[in-house]
Amino acid sequence: MSDIRDDVKADFTELFGYEPEGVWSAPGRVNLIGEHTDYNEGFVLPFAINKRTVLALGIRDDGVLRIASSFADEVAEIAIADLTPSALSGWSAYPFGVAWAMGQFGGDLAGVPGVDIYIDSVVPVGAGLSSSAAIESAVALALNDVWQLGFDRPTLAKIGQLAENKAVGAPTGIMDQSASLLGKRDSAVFLDCRSLDAEVIDLGFAAAGLELLIIDTGVSHSHSTGGYASRRASCEEGARVMGVPALRDLHVDDLPRAQELLDDETFRRVRHVVTEDQRVLDTVRTLREQGPTAIGELMDASHRSMRDDFEISVPELDLAVETALANGAIGARMTGGGFGGAAIALIPSDAVSRLQVAIDGAFAEHGFGQPVTFTVSAADGAVRES
Ligand code: ADP
Ligand code: MG
Repeated sequence: MSDIRDDVKADFTELFGYEPEGVWSAPGRVNLIGEHTDYNEGFVLPFAINKRTVLALGIRDDGVLRIASSFADEVAEIAIADLTPSALSGWSAYPFGVAWAMGQFGGDLAGVPGVDIYIDSVVPVGAGLSSSAAIESAVALALNDVWQLGFDRPTLAKIGQLAENKAVGAPTGIMDQSASLLGKRDSAVFLDCRSLDAEVIDLGFAAAGLELLIIDTGVSHSHSTGGYASRRASCEEGARVMGVPALRDLHVDDLPRAQELLDDETFRRVRHVVTEDQRVLDTVRTLREQGPTAIGELMDASHRSMRDDFEISVPELDLAVETALANGAIGARMTGGGFGGAAIALIPSDAVSRLQVAIDGAFAEHGFGQPVTFTVSAADGAVRES
């Protein structure tokens, strides 16, 4: 059986004409619960998935970076000395941005050699499974190793985030990179987005006979920049009026006062974030005390909150969730930033194929594009493969 790791080496050698130094990989992630809480300095509970971005890297004897990807036609190239956000654009801004960000975090890039990198990936792009963090984390780990920069994984996550914020220009939080770098098999990463404390939490899905089904609606979230920015603005406004540094500092008890002080829309945005933070804490506690079969209602409540209060769902996501719950799922919710992307359903293994058929049927009946459904398991974070 051909392995993506062998393929990526062969592709590297064919393209660059010499053998790579090594192979690294990093996973995409799915967020089990905790949506739009990261930039409000709250809690998230993502896990790394068994779909990875793999890269082969070779060392050059000059100061040039060259990057190719199965995803793109061109080989991108830049001198290490020329790395600045304004010099970067397109897909290569993710990997080159990571190299730049390493310098910003104090890495001494003056003496490091150039590298050639070939990237292959099975993380779906734009489905809310963070192909962007997978590429950033794989590149960050590889460069950290071959350049011997000595960054720890939490710092590599910050480096990936800085690349995405400044080199790509996407105002995202720290969740995706943390999951991709800190994830562990069969576990989720419980992340406090203020302190950046991360704790690995046992999921126990397999032992409970459960699977997590991803339902990728195919609705692109790429035009959602306006929606995302306006949600962030509402959250900032809510925190300002309530007199707290971030919505993380409000609790469910504060909601009646928030309702008095805020206009209806801002209040509902705030209520989503405050109750979602509480649901993440409740999910962690429930996983520890009762196991995964007991978290379904928390997932359902999270979806309703995103649909009705935060208003970031779309009809395809709502249909996916309703169909899942009507066909044996113990919990289901949209996941990711919203306005498209994927929903997740936690479901007994023996009900998965029935649900997949039901989803296809329901989408066809509504005249929606054909969704893509597949199960994921919780996998280890970024590693050096060889
Ligand atoms: P996602 O939800 O998948 O993270 P983003 O829009 O944040 O969606 O990131 C997707 C972008 O990341 C792609 O458009 C591309 O620029 C870059 N990217 C992701 N994976 C790869 C890859 N394997 N090769 C090259 N670029 C990639
Ligand atoms: Mg992304």
